[in-house]
Formats: sequence, C-alpha cells, structure tokens
Amino acid sequence: MGTEHILSIGGVSCRELAETYGTPLMIYDQAEIERKLTSFRKHFVSDKLQTEVAYASKAFTCKALLQLVKAAGCSLDVVSGGELHCARGAGFPMEKVFFHGNNKTPAELSMILENGVGTVVLDNEMEAALLVEMAAEKQKEIDVLLRINPGVEAHTHQYIITANPDSKFGIYIGERQRIVDLLKLVQSSKFVHFKGFHAHIGSQIFDSQAFLSEIRTLAEFSKSIETELDLPVPFISLGGGFGAYYTEEDQPIPVEEICSLLVKACEEEAEKNALSLQKIIIEPGRSIVAEAGSTLYTVGFCKSNANKNYVFVDGGMADNIRPALYQAKYRCDVVTKADAPKTLTATVAGKCCESGDILIENASLPAVEPGDLLLMYTTGAYGYSMASNYNRLPRPAVVFAKDGQAKLVIRRETFEDLEHLEL
Ligand SMILES: *Cc1c(COP(=O)(O)O)cnc(C)c1O
Repeated sequence: MGTEHILSIGGVSCRELAETYGTPLMIYDQAEIERKLTSFRKHFVSDKLQTEVAYASKAFTCKALLQLVKAAGCSLDVVSGGELHCARGAGFPMEKVFFHGNNKTPAELSMILENGVGTVVLDNEMEAALLVEMAAEKQKEIDVLLRINPGVEAHTHQYIITANPDSKFGIYIGERQRIVDLLKLVQSSKFVHFKGFHAHIGSQIFDSQAFLSEIRTLAEFSKSIETELDLPVPFISLGGGFGAYYTEEDQPIPVEEICSLLVKACEEEAEKNALSLQKIIIEPGRSIVAEAGSTLYTVGFCKSNANKNYVFVDGGMADNIRPALYQAKYRCDVVTKADAPKTLTATVAGKCCESGDILIENASLPAVEPGDLLLMYTTGAYGYSMASNYNRLPRPAVVFAKDGQAKLVIRRETFEDLEHLEL
C-alpha cells in the first residue's frame, strides 16, 4: 500500500478532509462502493435462474448510499420501520424492498402493507397469523418468504452443521410440522402470497462450504415441501454474510468467485431436485460497504503505563462499537507520519468512560504526537449504523469522496442536536 493511498481517499487528501470537516470523520470511497455493487450485480447471474442482489441496509444507510444502491439496480433489505422510512424518503422503489426481523410490530406490518413493500420475510407463526389478518382487513396483497434456520451456522473461519434449534431467527428446519402449519395458513390467504424460503447463516464468512451446505439444505427442504403441500417454492434467498478484509488474518472470497459458486450450486440443486425454482436472492451488507469506509481521528494524549502504551483518539466505541462488542480487529495508519518508521507498539483507545473502549490492540505506529491524524481502515460496515451518543458524544460527519471531490452526506451532530429530543 503506497503513501498515496494512505494520504488520500477518492483522490481527496485526508489532511484536507480533516481541516474541512473535522474529526472524527467517516470517509467513504464512493467508487469502491459502486464497484462492489456493480460486481455483485454483474457476477450473480445465471442462464437458468433469475437473480436478485439486495443490499442489507443495516450495515450502513443514508440517502446518498441508497442512491448508489438504486443506481446499481440492486434491491434493499430493511429491518425496521425506521429503515423503511429512510428508504421511502430516498425514493427507493418499495416493490424492491425486503422487510426482515423477528419481531415486526403491528405498526411496522401496517406500514409494510400501506407502502406496498415488495416482500416480507416472515419469522414465526404469530407474525404470519397477524399479517394474514391485517392484509385481509386492509385488502392489500403482499409476497412473503419464510425464514428458516437450516441448522448451518457460520462465522468467519468456521462453520458448523450442528442443529442449533434455538436461534431467535426463523423456524428450525427440524420442526417441520410448525413450518407446514404456517405455510397452510398462508396458503389459505387470498392476500398473502408465499414465494419461498430465506436463510441467513452468519456474517463475515470465509468458508464457501458453509454456503454450499446451506444451498443443499434449502433445496432439499424446498423439494419436500413442494411435494407435501403441492406448493411451488419459486424463490430461495441465501441471505448475506460475505466476508470483508479487515486485517491480514482475513481472506474474503472474491465477489466473482463466491457469486459463481453460489449460482452454480443453486442451478445444480434445482436440477437435481427438480425444483420449480425461478429466482435466487443474496443480501450482502458488510461486503459492499466495509472496505470502502475509513474513520479519521485526531490523536490526543498518549501515555505509557507499566506494560502498555496508549494512544488516545477523539472518538471510540460511540462511533465504532465493534472492537468492544465482538473483539473486532482493525488496521490503521498515521496520515501525518505516513513515511515514518513504525517504532511504537501501542493500544489505540477511545475517549469513552469504559475500560473496554479500545479500538486497536497492539497497533504498530510511528512515534505519534497530539494532533496527528490516525486513519482506521474498513470501518464502513456496522460502524456508523451502530453509533451511539454514549457520553453525549455527537456522532461524526460522513463524507463520500470520489474523483478528487468530497461530498458531505451526513453532517456532524452538534451539542444542540443532543438536546433536540428533550422537552
Ligand atoms: C444482517 C443481514 C444481512 C447482511 O449481512 P452481512 O454480514 O452484512 O452481509 C443479510 N440478510 C439478513 C437477513 C441479515 O440479518
């Protein structure tokens, strides 16, 4: 990685971005997001099946991002009334929206029906019953997928094909009667149309075997349901979970490779099981935005304790809770000393009042000083979208940089914003 890359994003220098917008600052390389979206669209294709790529907006969303998703011809996953509201505000076509979640409220189900959302991904029996009732009452039609738990669980380097019947999401595939009863209820509705099954087996997955195992399981299950209920299963959604590169420990499967692998496996399973499958869907979130995003911080104080050097920055767990929440690992560089030798091993920590507010353990850094700019890479997914106002820290600004131009897409929160909701 050359100095050029370290110093600038989307052709805009990080120093200039810090001067204009302040820190902490979320910076997205817009062209990188566009490349990822286009790449999924281009490679997740089949001669035999229709394909659809839905961006999982919980990874990061705002109007500017939704415009890119729309322009790339992708669909959208939302998981709450709030995300749906923002999608509508951005003019995202409602028929291309999938609404997920294990506990959609009556108000959310109502919003779904009133706004013409394309597909609801059902989670459980009570939800199915309520949706059937509400759709009849409102005389509104809706397509549904049913989330099933295939008993395949994957996380990063490992996957397990052990039955975990107790996940909070979906209905476990081994509980066939519950699934059959739910589908019969849906079949009896004039307004709710069953389209197929959905599964999502984890996140930051590097092992393609996990996806292949998921596809086999879904295909065989679909076949058995088609036979038993005389109910076609035209769609299968494989969920998301494709990995991103955070550190050298990570080896994500290239987009073109994973896409063609999934498509081939689906084609083969459809043929082998003589399925009435028409369309396959994937839902990448992290893999679209993670690597495109970086967070720029200003270094404050540094201190050397008995066994540990600390470098403190002007953000932390309030803008990126992933290290504290999942021991997520990151890389960083000091923009203002990009060419200096890395002589210091230090823990990069935030300013929040929590001992766990650590961003990077044992980072290799040049000898830093207060005022230096530290750029943390791959913060584009589940960073801003999980940000809080803990310690009443205002949330950072977000800029999109491309072709030497920076565009402010979310302004920095102010102290006034923090009082905004108080009466
Ligand atoms: C979170 C989520 C995704 C996206 O997962 P990534 O790991 O970000 O790709 C896709 N589908 C569903 C149902 C999800 O909950």
